[in-house]
Order: sequence, then C-alpha cells, then structure tokens
Amino acid sequence: MTKKTQTFQAEAKEILDLMIHSLYSHREIFLRELISNASDAIEKLKFESLVNQSLPVPVGGFEIRLDADQAARTLSIIDNGIGMTSEEVVANIGTIAHSGTKAFVKMRQELKDHPEMIGQFGVGFYSAFMVADRVTLHTQKAGTTNGTLWESDGGGTYTIEDQPRERGHGTTLTLHLKDFKDEDGEVQNFTDFWTLKEVVKKYSDFVSHPIKMLHSREQKKDDKTETVVEDETLNSQKALWLRSPSEVTADEYNEFYRHLTHDWVDPLKTIHYRAEGTMEFTSILYIPAQKPYNYDFRDRKIGLNLYVKRVFIKGDCEELLPPYLRFMKGMVDSDDLTLNVSRELLQQDRQILRIKKALASKALSTLKSLLETDRASYEKFWANFGSTLKEGIALEPSSVDKLKDLILFNSTHSNQLTSLAEYVARMKPGQKDIYYITGDSLAQIQNSPYLEKLKAKGFEVLLMTDKVDAWVATGMDQFDEKSFQSVSAENLDLGTEEEKKAEQEKMREAGEKLKPLLETMQEALKEQVKEIKLSERLTESPVCLVSVADGASAHMERLMESMGQSAPKAKRIMELNPNHPLYNKMMTVSSEQQKEWAEILYQQALLNEGSQIENPYLYSQKIAKLMMSAAMH
Ligand code: ADP
Repeated sequence: MTKKTQTFQAEAKEILDLMIHSLYSHREIFLRELISNASDAIEKLKFESLVNQSLPVPVGGFEIRLDADQAARTLSIIDNGIGMTSEEVVANIGTIAHSGTKAFVKMRQELKDHPEMIGQFGVGFYSAFMVADRVTLHTQKAGTTNGTLWESDGGGTYTIEDQPRERGHGTTLTLHLKDFKDEDGEVQNFTDFWTLKEVVKKYSDFVSHPIKMLHSREQKKDDKTETVVEDETLNSQKALWLRSPSEVTADEYNEFYRHLTHDWVDPLKTIHYRAEGTMEFTSILYIPAQKPYNYDFRDRKIGLNLYVKRVFIKGDCEELLPPYLRFMKGMVDSDDLTLNVSRELLQQDRQILRIKKALASKALSTLKSLLETDRASYEKFWANFGSTLKEGIALEPSSVDKLKDLILFNSTHSNQLTSLAEYVARMKPGQKDIYYITGDSLAQIQNSPYLEKLKAKGFEVLLMTDKVDAWVATGMDQFDEKSFQSVSAENLDLGTEEEKKAEQEKMREAGEKLKPLLETMQEALKEQVKEIKLSERLTESPVCLVSVADGASAHMERLMESMGQSAPKAKRIMELNPNHPLYNKMMTVSSEQQKEWAEILYQQALLNEGSQIENPYLYSQKIAKLMMSAAMH
C-alpha cells in the first residue's frame, strides 16, 4: 500500500479535539491508557497462542518498553503483543464504535468535564493527543510479515502506509511531545526517567508484564565518572490479590479497580475473598459507586477477569457471576481450572459453576452487612443497582431467601426506603399480611383508591414502581411467614372474622337496596368487566377495578404490552363503594343515564389505576355534557 491520506470519522475528530484542548492537570493519564492498550495487546497474543500454535511468542518474553529521547522530545511506548493489520488500524483508530447519537453526546459531555475518564469510553488511544502534537503508530500483526505505519497530527486526517517493522509483531507508538506548561507553571517532562517511573508506579504498578526503560546514570569509579546504562523494570507486577488484605491499602485497591474498569470514580465497596479447602480461588470484587453510562446498553461488556494460576485467561467472563450481580466488577484467579478457553466449556465447567455460587453468596452476605452497618452507602448502591439485584427474585429461586433481606421499598410509612424486616417490625396488631401495590409511578399509586381502606386501618403498604416489580411481587411468596398481598386483588381480606361477617351483612343489605342499579350497570358494562360488586375496600372514592384472584394485574398487563407481548386481557371486577352518596342519587335517574354514568365510572376507575382509557375524546365529551346538565339544575 502506498501512502494514503484518510479522514477521521466526524465523531472521532470531535474526541480528538477534546483531548487536544483538555485540562493540563490530567495529562499524565495518557500513559496509563497507552500502557493498558499495550498490556491488552500482549494478553490477546498470549491467549491466541494458546489456541494457535503457529503464532510467535517473543524469545525474551513479553514486555512493554518506554523509550524516551530528550533531544527529539519523543516518547515511544513499545509492546511485543498482537499488533494490528492495516484494516484494524483504520477500524480501531480512525473510527469510534458507539451505540447511537445519544450515547455519543453523553460521552462528549462527560469527557469535556472529565477527560481523565477517557478509558471508560473505549477511546483511550486518543489520550495520546493530550501530550503530543504528532503521533505515529507502527504496528505489525502477529503471524503476518508486513507492518503498517500510521501518523496524524490530530487534525482531521491521518496517513497510512505499509512499512515492515524491524522488531516484528507488536506496536510502537511514538508521541512527539507538545511544549506545554502545567497549571502551576511546572512542566511535567515525559521524557524524564523519574517522571515516567512515578507515573507508571502510580497507575500501572500491577500491570502483569514488565514495563521496562533504559536508565543512564553517572557512576564514580576510581575518581572517574562514567555513564552506566541499565535496563530497569518500573512496575512491581505484584498480583494484588495474592497479598494479604491487611497489607493492601485502599489506594492500591482503588487503583487496581481503575485498571480493571477504567472507571475514574473509586468503587463503593471492595471485597477481597479467598476460598480455601476443596476449591481454591482468590477474587477481588468491586461494587461501582456510580452507574456506568452504558449500563443498560445491550452491547455492554459484563463479567469478571479470569486468571488461572496468575495467568490472565479472559476478560469479561460473564459465566462467573449470576446475571443479577452483573453490576459487579473484578477478577478471579483459580488454581483448579484447566485452560479450557472456549465459551461452551466455560458454561459447563463444574468448577466455574462452583466459583459462581461461592462468589454470589459472598457478594450477598457483603451487601447484607453493608445494609446493616452503612445504610447511606447501601442506599446509594440500591439507587444504582437495586433493580438489577431484584431480578434475582424472579430468575434465581435458590437465592430468593437471601435477596428478600436485601430489597428496599418505598412505602406509605414515610419517605424513607424500608426493608421487609423493618416493615414487619411495624406491622399493626391484627395485620396478617404484607401489603403491596404496583404501578408506574409513585405519584400515581400513592393516591390510589386501593390504599384508602388500608390507610384508615393504619396498615402500611409497599409501593412498587420498578419495571421488574410485578415479577418481584409474585416471586416473593412469603417473608417471616407472612404472605404478600396485592391491595388490588379480589378478596382483599383485612379484618377479623367478626368484622368480615358484619361487612358481609352490610354489603348484603346495600346490595338489596341498589339491586336495580347494579343490574343496569352490569348490563351497560358487560363487555368490559366480569362482575360488578359492592365492597368496603374504598372509603372515599366511588369505584375501582380489581384483578380476579389469579389473573394478571393491570401493571403486569401494561408491562407485557410495553415489551411487545400481547397479554391475555383478563376481565376485571368493578367494585363500588356503597357508602358513597353517588349511588343513592343514581337510583333516582333514568336507566339511560345510569348506563352512561356507569361508563364514566368505569373509565375513572381505569384512570385511577394508571391504565389508558380507550377513547379519551369521548370521555371528555361525556364529562362536558354532565357539567352542562349540572349547571342547568
Ligand atoms: P480500548 O482500548 O478501550 O478499546 P482504545 O481507543 O484505547 O480503546 O483502543 C482502540 C483499539 O485499538 C483497541 O481496542 C485495540 O483493538 C486497538 N489497539 C490500541 N492500542 C493497541 C496496541 N498497542 N496493540 C494492538 N492493538 C491496539
């Protein structure tokens, strides 16, 4: 290929501009990003050479090398990893893969404020332009014989051409350093050995390949000074997880977290765990303090890094955690695993399944103690990842009991979140069940007519508004031997036997009195509702709809519809409040009017529970007509 000039994708150009103009104080993180790319490239080659024996493995071992030239003001980062083909250079360096415009706009905004977050967005390479006004990348893919030379000054274009690489496979990235001053006027000289060593120590100490640099120093010998040039390894490469937790500082754990995740905010919680006995492995797990910007994207990578006997095997290993813990980050190092690397084998591996079980159990017990000892942190965790954790209730029957202790709810008790244990402790004498209501928003269900009777009795109700809550509610079964009871279900049973008897008697009497009205209404609404009956559920509102005992709730129906599944429309029961003065009035009007009002009442009941009415226009017309006739009287 002869030398060609190509343009950056528009988005890539924008990110480059941001880097070129980024804050001075964060410039040093470019080295972390580029070393991390070099280290990834080595790990990729190690991994591929396990499968493909013909791939080269460097005789002198894998390494990352820093090569600085004071006079020319250049710094090179050199690795003997997998390298790239020219197509890969164009795809990886000239363009940004991202999931849609919205995601890009968010990324651009966050990078504007926090350029040091760059690694998180998968565009770490561009951080080179924080310190360089020209960057050359010379790379050769392992297993090929020709190299690719790429160069750009961060303007709109780059050049690319074939050029053999003397060192063979791997990548040399050369930064032509800008002339700049730090905010406080001090210059950080990225060609200076000590400066580079300090930055490497700070960010990349546990990178598991040696980061080497030549160091020349003066040495006195027999009254003569001579210059000695030595090769020095800048990082300790110590596997953090093999050290005793008491010897690892919080800073070291946090730096390791940044290395694994590229998240720039320290984690909320760190778990360093060693399993001993029949199964031996070590793990460091982290709960992030913030929700990653792409948390809900389908293509987001999840899972832990897997090591076998200190050797990195695979990143993003989803098989190591159940899906409801997918917010956790970290790594596992096992001595017992074989180097079976294929996905199918990982999924079936009994050892992996046992590790997954042990990690889940450790994670849940850690969350429990966090809830008990540091409520504020737990609530932060809950706000970010609570709905993910809750999925376990629906999908992981074996963990349901433990998860019940960890779930927090909004409730009618106060504005604070409550656990089930706290709810049960507040239960009133005579209260048999744990009550809940599901719906789309707090505002809507807080004022729901279904709560009237319970409020009057002083019974607390859990307010469940999360998308997954309809499943959570059905998956929970019992807590502390108390059943979960939806307040919108038929046969809601709130009173004692005597109260129930008295109520039945009252309803029977009212039923007799209102019989002709009920029959007319039933006739008018026979297509819409299964049955119309009187009940004591309501104290203020005239009407509500309830689900047949084993039918899907209205919330569940809406949820399934929003997922594009057609929910079988179960006919509901319409309950009337016989204590409402409306019905006595209705007895005095014509049956035509009764029918029309029955329609209006039905539609009000739909609106109250958050459902849509079929024809809002017709409904408004009917209300306007009512107003007119009220005004005339
Ligand atoms: P990320 O590393 O998060 O994917 P980068 O912008 O840092 O994002 O790099 C983009 C891609 O370029 C990498 O995913 C990798 O495929 C490739 N790349 C970068 N540096 C190297 C390198 N030293 N050797 C091989 N490939 C590299």
